[in-house]
Amino acid sequence: MKKPNLDTVTTINKDGSKYNIHPADVKGSFTLRRRLTAWVLILIYILLPWIKINGYPAVFLDLDKRQFHFMGLTLFTQDFWVLFFFISGLAFTLFVLSSIVGRVWCGWFCPYTVFLEHLYRRIERFVDGDAPKRRRLDEAPMNKTKFIKRAIKWSFYVLVSFILAHVFLSYFISIPGVWSNITDGPAEHITEFLFILAFTGIFTFCFGWFREQFCIILCPYGRFQSALTDDQTVTVFYDYNRGEPRGKMTKDADKKLGDCIDCRRCVNVCPTGIDIRNGLQLECVACSACVDACNEIMTKVNRPKGLIRYDSSAGISTGKRKILRPRLFLYMIFTAIGLGVLGAVFVSKAKPFHAGITRVMGTTYTANEQGVRNQYQIKLTNKRNQDITYTYKLVNSPGFELSAGTNTITLGPLQKDTVTFTVFSPVDQYKGSADIFIDVTSEDGTRSELTARFLGPAATLYKDSLNEKQETTNPE
Ligand code: SF4
Ligand code: SF4
Repeated sequence: MKKPNLDTVTTINKDGSKYNIHPADVKGSFTLRRRLTAWVLILIYILLPWIKINGYPAVFLDLDKRQFHFMGLTLFTQDFWVLFFFISGLAFTLFVLSSIVGRVWCGWFCPYTVFLEHLYRRIERFVDGDAPKRRRLDEAPMNKTKFIKRAIKWSFYVLVSFILAHVFLSYFISIPGVWSNITDGPAEHITEFLFILAFTGIFTFCFGWFREQFCIILCPYGRFQSALTDDQTVTVFYDYNRGEPRGKMTKDADKKLGDCIDCRRCVNVCPTGIDIRNGLQLECVACSACVDACNEIMTKVNRPKGLIRYDSSAGISTGKRKILRPRLFLYMIFTAIGLGVLGAVFVSKAKPFHAGITRVMGTTYTANEQGVRNQYQIKLTNKRNQDITYTYKLVNSPGFELSAGTNTITLGPLQKDTVTFTVFSPVDQYKGSADIFIDVTSEDGTRSELTARFLGPAATLYKDSLNEKQETTNPE
C-alpha cells in the first residue's frame, strides 16, 4: 500500500496513471448518520419526478415547452433570470456553510459522493469482498475468477448507471415521457436514447473508474476551500497535541508517547487516500470515516475518543473555538442580500401571468374626421395550472379610449393567447403622439401595467387639414 505524503496525490502514480484506492470498511456513529443521509437523498432524487404539485412533477425542466416547474411554481423562459439569483443565493449559502463546517457538503451531501460511496462502492464491496480481498484481486493477473468478478461488477455498474440515467432524464421529460420512450423503442425517440447512452456511459466511467479523482482534480468547489476556510472553520482534524509523538504501544514506561498508536487505520479507511495526521489537505472531503475509525481504535486501547474529530485548527492548537467571526458575517450579509433580492424581485416580478404589448404588424395609425386610431396586440401567458380570466383597460391616459368590444380574455392552464384591440383618440381631445398605459389584471387581483406609444400626425397640422377639408366641402 502506498504511503500518503504532502508532496504527491496518492491516487496518481509517478507516471500519471491511476492508483486504485480500496478504503477499508468502517463502522461508527458518523458512518451510520452519513449512510442514512445518503439514502434519504437518493430516495428524494428518485421520488421527486413522481411527486406532483399543481399537476406537474415537483421538479421538472420541460425543455420541450421551455418551462421550469419547481414545487408548484411554473417559470417560463422570460422568468429564467430568477435562476441567477437562486444559484447565487445557493452559492453564498454554501460559502457560509463552508466557512463554518468546511467541506461537509462534499462528504455528506454532494450527489457525486452520495452515489460513489453509498451505491457503487457498496456494489464493489458486495462482489469483490473487503478491502484486502479487493486489493489482492486488483493485483492478481487476469484469470477465470477475476474475469467473472469483473464482468459481474461492471454489469451491476452499467445497470445502476442505466437506471440513474433514466431517473435523470425524467427531470426533463417527466415519468410518462420516460415510460413512452421505453414502450415506443429507441427509434421513435433517438435524442432521448442518445441521452440515456451518454449518461449511462458518464456515470459508469465516473463512479466505476474515475471516482475520487473528480473531487481531487476537477471539482471547482474543492479549489475554493482554501479561500473560504480559516483557522476557526470546523472540519476533520487530527489532534497532534494529544497524538504525538506517535508510536506502537509499548510497556516501556520511559517511552513517552502520544495517544496515536500508529495503527494507520485512519489512512486505510480514507476514500481519498490521505493521511489526516499530515494536517488538513485539499483532498479531504470531511467524510468522517477516519473519525469513526480512530474512535474504534481508541475504544479498543482504552483511551478517550476524539483523537481525530470535527474541530477547528484554532480549537486543536489553543483549545479556543470561535464560531461567529467577521468573515462569516460578511458571507451571511451576501447570502441575505442574494436571497432577499431574489425574494423581493420574485414576488414583485414573477407574476402568475406574463403580458407584453406590441403594435399590430404593418400598421402605424389611421386618422379621419372622428379621430386617430392605433391597433395593438397584448400577448398573454397564463403561468398557473387553472383557467384564469384577465381584464385590460386604459389607465392614466387622458384623451384616449379603448374601442374594443370586450376587454376580457380567459386562458386555460399554461395557455398563451393574443388579443387585438384599438385605442382611439377623438379629434377634439387629440394632442399628438403620446405614451399610453394599459392595466392588465388577473381575476386573483395581480396587475401588470404595460406602456405603448400612441402614434399620430402632429395635432395642429391634422386639425388644420380637417378644417381645410370642411371649408372645401362647405364653401360660404
Ligand atoms: S487511527 Fe488513530 S491511532 Fe490509528 S494511526 Fe490513525 S490517528 Fe493514530
Ligand atoms: S481524511 Fe478523514 S475525513 Fe478526510 S477524506 Fe479521509 S477519511 Fe474522510
